[in-house]
Amino acid sequence: MPAPTLDDITNALKAVDSGTGGLDIVARGWVKDVLCKDGHVTVTLEVPATMGPKLEPVRQAAEKIIHDLPGVISATVVLTAARAAQPATAKGGSPKGAGRIELPNVKHIVAVASGKGGVGKSTTATNLAVALAKLGRKVAIFDADIFGPSQPRLLGVSKLKPSSDGDKVYPLDVHGVKVMSIGFMIAEDNPVVWRGPMVMGALEQMLRDVAWGELDVMIIDMPPGTGDTQLTVSQRVPLAGAVIVSTPQDIALLDARKGLNMFRRVEVPILGIIENMSYHICTNCGHREDIFSHGGAHRTADELDAEFLGEIPLDLQIRMTSDSGTPIVVAQPDSPHSKAYMAIAEKIWAKLDAGSVKKAPPKINLGKMFGV
Ligand code: ADP
Repeated sequence: MPAPTLDDITNALKAVDSGTGGLDIVARGWVKDVLCKDGHVTVTLEVPATMGPKLEPVRQAAEKIIHDLPGVISATVVLTAARAAQPATAKGGSPKGAGRIELPNVKHIVAVASGKGGVGKSTTATNLAVALAKLGRKVAIFDADIFGPSQPRLLGVSKLKPSSDGDKVYPLDVHGVKVMSIGFMIAEDNPVVWRGPMVMGALEQMLRDVAWGELDVMIIDMPPGTGDTQLTVSQRVPLAGAVIVSTPQDIALLDARKGLNMFRRVEVPILGIIENMSYHICTNCGHREDIFSHGGAHRTADELDAEFLGEIPLDLQIRMTSDSGTPIVVAQPDSPHSKAYMAIAEKIWAKLDAGSVKKAPPKINLGKMFGV
């Protein structure tokens, strides 16, 4: 069955009522991006910022209509806030277009980033968030890894959905950590094709519309790599600092350097580097093997004048606890690995709390960016 054309999709969407004055969503001008790749359809509805949360039923209706079209394998409809001409509201902050996203009730926002995928960034972010909560901090984790959201699975809540009162969305509370992820809205194995502006629109909406409450730390699980999305998040979210996760292989470290340089260019302080999958202890005999020539991240950290925050071994228990949705700091709190995560969390908190991290808004220095 051939996939529908973009016109077929738009025509089908004319059957979805906008809930405002009898007009359908196409007539309202809300349908902005319609993408279809091999039967996987993604549509962006750009709606007035203040109406966003009330339009969840409309979003779902649009998704169903597309899904029912012949040749469609998956349908994802995303609401994004219209940027122009919306008056600032006390509740929602001001939709300032390319401005900064202010989260006044969050004391410190920390990005956990990596130069490439698969190095254990999300696993590290989850364990650090739970470790910070165990230290008595009010913590949230925001899954900005929009291309491969994994926090719902890592925290064992992939079958749950956050609740909404029609105005704000309430994050789930897992192991003392509030969690929000695009993964609650789309299937993890759904290959969503995002375009740059859609990504930031969706992330921004999640940041603004979620009732985070008062927080000491928000951990942002960043998308892997150093592309436009990462740069935009680093510029627009008032980050207290970034933590770079790397494996010891040289190639990964090269990527880690890119990550580190990206944050430096936009003047986000580097809190430090974590070496993940640093070494392996044999489950049978206890023999230690430096599979990826351990120690590279420590050397790189020294060379780049960044703090080395610690190393986490490559360990079956870490993977198994992640896969089963209970991070190792919860599942095996007394294990050496949990202690390693706790020690890193303590270091991070000490840096944040001591104010050694400057909270000045990052500014783009174009000269530095282009290396002149
Ligand atoms: P990323 O966010 O960098 O893409 P993930 O956190 O999703 O990486 O980890 C990729 C895979 O590696 C997952 O299966 C995870 O369970 C596993 N993993 C991560 N860190 C470790 C570790 N220290 N020991 C063993 N497995 C790990």
